[in-house]
Amino acid sequence: MKIMKELINELLEICRDTHPNEFFAFLTGNRGVIKEYIYIPFKQGRDFVSIDTSLLPLGMKIYGTVHSHPSHSPNPSPQDLSTFSSFGRVHIIVYYPYCKECWRAFDSSGNAIFIDVV
Ligand SMILES: [Zn+2]
Repeated sequence: MKIMKELINELLEICRDTHPNEFFAFLTGNRGVIKEYIYIPFKQGRDFVSIDTSLLPLGMKIYGTVHSHPSHSPNPSPQDLSTFSSFGRVHIIVYYPYCKECWRAFDSSGNAIFIDVV
């Protein structure tokens, strides 16, 4: 799995702008490359966000999710893990202070994975 450099830079910027609130979006693309994020309205929850998946475009291939941690923690919360297991196989956590390297990728079980930036 790969991700476009422009996309990760854009996501870092959005998360910075959204701070101190949490940002959440779905990731999509094609041929194993994550190219776009899909933002749908969500309600800010206590620990995570509640997602109305009926708002997703029909037939859209969801590669995974991206969300921000306004805290310094790059690690998935128990809530995150249940979200990870529901949507796709690549999950990115962007964390404060949203520097270039302030993001990590996880698989649907919450194990850290390496993805290529292209
Ligand atoms: Zn989280």
